[in-house]
Amino acid sequence: MTELLYLQDCYIKDFTAKVLEDFGDSVVLDRTAFYPGGGGQPNDEGWFLLDNLTKYEVKKVEKREDVVLHYINKEKSLNIVGKSIKGLLDWDKRYTYMRYHTAIHLLDALMRKNFGKAFLTGGQIYADKARVDVDYPDLNKNMMQQIEYMVNSEIKNGREVIIKFLSKKEAESIPDIARTKPGQELLKKLETVRVVEIVGLDVQMDGGTHVKNIKEIGGIRITNFENKGSHNKRIEFVLK
Ligand SMILES: [Zn+2]
Repeated sequence: MTELLYLQDCYIKDFTAKVLEDFGDSVVLDRTAFYPGGGGQPNDEGWFLLDNLTKYEVKKVEKREDVVLHYINKEKSLNIVGKSIKGLLDWDKRYTYMRYHTAIHLLDALMRKNFGKAFLTGGQIYADKARVDVDYPDLNKNMMQQIEYMVNSEIKNGREVIIKFLSKKEAESIPDIARTKPGQELLKKLETVRVVEIVGLDVQMDGGTHVKNIKEIGGIRITNFENKGSHNKRIEFVLK
């Protein structure tokens, strides 16, 4: 089993861990700060340092049941099972993902607050932009300036973002805690539910990594709006 360090602390940039399995092209550790991807957030990249000497690039990370596979640039097993390894995240990349992820939650929360029934149906984060799909038939291009303004004003004022672990019962008592269908299915199976709260604005079940205050997002600029049907509008934005 791999302990997922990023669930408790999103700001861990490096860590030491023990190698549990070495499959040649991938390695399993007893703990990791590498985010394995999911919920629209890409997997982390970075490096492994062995004996403080040899550096391996980690390009792909994947969660498989209760372990995390780290794919590194080697082909053969290195006989490192049981050894200690240092993991270093590509922090610039990860921090950008965190800023985008919290920005998506903020955008979602403010659209709901200001427009009522505006439902986020999906989202994807890239290294240089993010997109969200919204089910809100009235949404149109002319509203983008207003949305950008309301998100940026909120960012300027700042709000704390906290991560909490709730019992299933506590979580289920919060309306709209799980926004997507897969999320609602997952909630049924969980004992403990990790939630991300933008204090005073939004609480939702989430497995991703987030900044501690929305101020850290800096600001957003909406770069594209696409009307893909009455229940499917797509917004693209970049960080300023
Ligand atoms: Zn999220």
